[in-house]
Amino acid sequence: MKIKTVEIFKIELPLIEPFIVSYATYPNMPSIITKITTECGIVGWGEAVPDEHVTGETLESTYAILKHQLAPLVIGENPMAFERLHEMMDKAVYNVPAAKAAIDIACFDIVGKKLQVPAYQLTGGRYHHKFPITHVLSIAEPQQMAEEAARRVEMGYRSFKMKVGRDVASDVARIRAVRERVGHEIAIRVDVNQGWGNSANTLQAVRQLEMLQIDWLEQPVRADDIDAMVEIKTKTTIPLMIDEGLRGVREMREIIAKRAADKVNIKLMKCGGIYPAMKLAHMAEMAGIECQIGSMVESSVGSAAGFHVAFSNKAFTSVELTGPLKFSKDIGDLHYDVPFIQLTEKPGLGVEVDETILAELTNEQCVVAQ
Ligand SMILES: [Mg+2]
Repeated sequence: MKIKTVEIFKIELPLIEPFIVSYATYPNMPSIITKITTECGIVGWGEAVPDEHVTGETLESTYAILKHQLAPLVIGENPMAFERLHEMMDKAVYNVPAAKAAIDIACFDIVGKKLQVPAYQLTGGRYHHKFPITHVLSIAEPQQMAEEAARRVEMGYRSFKMKVGRDVASDVARIRAVRERVGHEIAIRVDVNQGWGNSANTLQAVRQLEMLQIDWLEQPVRADDIDAMVEIKTKTTIPLMIDEGLRGVREMREIIAKRAADKVNIKLMKCGGIYPAMKLAHMAEMAGIECQIGSMVESSVGSAAGFHVAFSNKAFTSVELTGPLKFSKDIGDLHYDVPFIQLTEKPGLGVEVDETILAELTNEQCVVAQ
């Protein structure tokens, strides 16, 4: 089996409400979709959602690298040879994990379809039966976040991820407001997205948060400051998660060596796709670190890819792949049984892409062939 063509689509996914994190506000979600076709006619779909704040890749750079470097490189290659494909891509271009994920995910879709098995059969087989969906609360005023949380509890949600990261005092007020509104039975996770900057600010915050029963605190300090995480970890009982500070194997080695986190947030867009994500999960498992699979707010394609990784590996204890629930229009049909996700038995990613909607959302496209 050989790759014959790679089609690349630059699209914009319409969000129901703007997505707000400490470093950016997104009115719509730009994304890149790949459609890889083999000589035997099998079609696989992939996705890249680059986040320049996290990996330095932009939408434009990702589109250009796929078009001029990665797509021409994989034409004529066997999509089943994951190890080899990644080695080729890594030798050709340093980093650019989102661009590589767009190739990797499409290849997993193809191989699953070829073998007539869901992608999770290629990554360890079904381990988890279902995952609860965590609702993400965008940064807002404390009472607004508390009201939104209360509404979601009525819909059946049992866990929240609060986005904070403005300043310690107002963030503590946000977390306290939500905790007081939803009571102690509901899980609250807090993602600071580097917003508290350093260990001093974070230690001030954790002192006030220790009584609020939060499941874990995610990326309070700057991404590259692994040593600050070590310092905080020795001074608090709140479990710590690293997100932006973990991209690939190099950072995972440092996190493990320094015992810098209790949990890590693995994202296909940070590490290069399904295959590298499995390597990270194995490393974490060996070190007794729990994993979450997260996303850059991806369509059905990228989100499904993340689910296949999470469902097939016991190191994953939580998932945060709610992209499709945030869009008013999506190119695929990944199904959420709110407040749970259950994967289908369909081959490959199990996602049907609606090419009419894809065309409607596309701003620019190209085809790379032999
Ligand atoms: Mg995060």
